[in-house]
Order: sequence, then C-alpha cells, then structure tokens
Amino acid sequence: METEQAIIQALFYYKIMDISHINSIILRLNSDSSFDQFSQSVRNTLNQFGFELVSTIDQLSSLKCYTITNTLSDNASKRSNNKYMDTIILRAMLSEVFEPSGSSLPTKFVTTFENINSRVPDVLESLPEETRPASKPSKRQTLDSIDHLIEEGFIARYDVHYRDRSYNLLYPTTRLLCELDRYIQENFSRESLKHCEACRNILTIGYGCSQCSFALHQHCSESYFAESVPSDRFCPYCKTPWQDPLPIGPII
Ligand SMILES: [Zn+2]
Ligand SMILES: [Zn+2]
Repeated sequence: METEQAIIQALFYYKIMDISHINSIILRLNSDSSFDQFSQSVRNTLNQFGFELVSTIDQLSSLKCYTITNTLSDNASKRSNNKYMDTIILRAMLSEVFEPSGSSLPTKFVTTFENINSRVPDVLESLPEETRPASKPSKRQTLDSIDHLIEEGFIARYDVHYRDRSYNLLYPTTRLLCELDRYIQENFSRESLKHCEACRNILTIGYGCSQCSFALHQHCSESYFAESVPSDRFCPYCKTPWQDPLPIGPII
C-alpha cells in the first residue's frame, strides 16, 4: 500500500517516468520487488479516480515509460481553465509536426512557434461551434500556452544551427506521443506518420533510408543490423547502403 502510494505520487510529480526510475523508488521502499508486482493495483487505484496509467517505449532511451492520463476531462472542464487553450495549441502543433503547412525545416517531425501560430485558425475552425473560443488567441496567449506545455513536459525545445541557419525548433515529447496516441492514430493518415520497421511503434526520432521511407529507431537499428558489420548494411527495400542514414527528428 505504501509502495503503491509512493509510485502514484512519483508519477504525478515527474509526469512521466521510465521503468528504471520507478524500480529505483520501489527498491528504496521494498528491496526485493519490481513494478510488475504493483502495476495492477496502481492501475486500479488510478481508475477509481478517473485516471489511466499508459505506457510507451521512449524512442531515445528504449526504456518503457509510464504516464498518467485523465480519462474524465471533457470539453466543459477543459474550457473552464487554460487547459482548453493548451488543447488547441497541441492540436495545431501535431498538425504542423505530421502534416506541415508552414515553412520548410531541416528535419521531419519538428516545428516552430510561427508554424504553430499560423495553424491555430484551422484548429479553431475544426472545433464544434459551441466549444469554440470567442476570439482567436493572441500571439502572446499562444506563446504562454507553449511555455506552459514545455513546463508540463508535452513539448520540448531544440535549438540547432544547421547549414548556416539557426532554428528554434519544437517537437512532441514521449509524454505527448503517449498520451495522445489515440488522437494521433485517428487524425493523421498512415502516410503522414512514420513507423519503425523493427518495433512498429511510431517514429519521430530515428534514422531513415536516404532513398525510400524505411526508418528505424536508433536502438532498434542496433538490433536490426546486429548480424552484419557496418559496411554490409543495406536498406532492405531499395538496397541503399545504411552507412549514412538520414537523421529524423531533433537529432540533426
Ligand atoms: Zn523501433
Ligand atoms: Zn531504402
């Protein structure tokens, strides 16, 4: 009971935790247990209060991560606070990440403040009229909302200097991809999304073939090509050598 409570408190505090982090907390309380023994009771407790425990694999660390989502939030409760604004900004952001309409960027699955801001009117248009805010959010409100979403761990910043230009990029975090997985699968076509050919999970950070759509997470590519030496690795579809795969996402 005490352990279960500590796990739940830690999940709310850290917002997203990988399995080794959760197990290190359990270790401090119960030296010989693992999260497997507590996950069902943690799930049950959270469900009673309208929360759900969801998990995903972190694309960079390859560790299993857990986060808590609120299953009870409806449009009315979202409107009553600034969460509603955050929802609008997140939708605008995901649209720009998966189906960009804004200016071209040096890598896929990233976007910028300007691109998100220019997408907001489309998102407002797509909302049912009764839930639509009276006026378009100002630039300041959009900026504040993005700052809030960065603090909450849904959006991350990536500043990069690439081919003589500086970019202030924004990209979706593991927490966002995990929480909005269903929304993403339902709202974007399979062609707009990329999936890792090894683990089949969504890929927004990884490496891709320079000639076709084949892509792998970094950690998946290590196991995928484990049998061959680097000079003998080829894209399985178009046979392009895998020596210099294209970085995808905020790793350029
Ligand atoms: Zn993968
Ligand atoms: Zn290829």
